[in-house]
Amino acid sequence: MEITLLGTGSPLPDPRRGGPATLVRAGGQTILVDAGRAVVMRLAGAGTLPVLLNAVLITHLHSDHITDLNDVITSHWVMTGIETPLNVYGPPGTQTVVDGILMMLAPDISYRLAHHTDTLTYKPKVVVTEVKPGATFAIGDVQVKVARTHHQPVEPTVAFRLEHDGKSVVLGGDGIPCDTLDEICAGADAYVQTVIREDLVKLVKNKRFLDILDYHSTVEQAAQTATKAGIKKLILTHYVPSMQPGQEDEWRAFAAKYFDGEIVLGDDLTTTTI
Ligand SMILES: [Zn+2]
Ligand SMILES: [Zn+2]
Repeated sequence: MEITLLGTGSPLPDPRRGGPATLVRAGGQTILVDAGRAVVMRLAGAGTLPVLLNAVLITHLHSDHITDLNDVITSHWVMTGIETPLNVYGPPGTQTVVDGILMMLAPDISYRLAHHTDTLTYKPKVVVTEVKPGATFAIGDVQVKVARTHHQPVEPTVAFRLEHDGKSVVLGGDGIPCDTLDEICAGADAYVQTVIREDLVKLVKNKRFLDILDYHSTVEQAAQTATKAGIKKLILTHYVPSMQPGQEDEWRAFAAKYFDGEIVLGDDLTTTTI
C-alpha cells in the first residue's frame, strides 16, 4: 500500500502547497481522499490522472477539502472514451455539493458537448454514495470502513480506514481526538492526520484564526491518538500554519514527544509505503 500526500496545505494560501488531498494505491486501486486546491496538478505529479481514479473519498464538506473536486470531475469526464462513472463517497450532503458543482459546470458542459458532437456524447457521470459512520464498502479488493470524527460545528465528518492484503491506513480528516477515531485507528499500520501547531497559531492575535484551535488536532494530539491506537507510522499533513522549509524536524519533535514510531511529514508528493 502506497500513500502519497498530494496536497499538504490548508485554507491559508501557500505557493508551495496544494490543498488537502491524499492518494492511496493498493491492490491495483487508485483512491483519492479529499480534493483540495491544485489536486489535479498533484495527481499528475504523482503519475496519475482523474480518469485513472477508482474512487474519490471525501472526509467532510469544508471548502479546503473539496474546492477542486470540480476540476477532478471535468478532467475525468473529458478524458474518458466512453461514459465512465466517477465514484465519489462522502458524508451526507455530498450529493447536494456534487449537484451544485455540476450546475456550476453546466455552461462548460454544454460548450464541450457542442464542440465534440461525434466523440463526446455524454455528460459527466458522477455516482455519489453517501456514507454514514459504521458503513463498510469495497473499492476493488480494498475494504473501506467509515467512522465519525469530531470537527464541530462541521457535521457530519468522517474518517476512512482502508485495508488491503493485511495492511491498513486511516485517513482521519480534520478534527480533534475522540473515541470513534480511536476505534477506527486501533491497530492500523498508518494514520494520516491533518494537524495544526498550537504554539504557532497562538502567536497570531486574531480571533477568527484562533478559533481553529477548537476543532483541529494539534501535532501532539495526533501523536497521542497514534500511540493510543498502536499505530506504526504517523503521517502528518494540512500544516497550519504552513510548515516552512527547514522546520520539518521541529514539527517532528512535537509529535515524537508522544509517539515512538515512524513520523512522516514533508512537502507535497511525499510518499510512503506500508
Ligand atoms: Zn481542513
Ligand atoms: Zn475541516
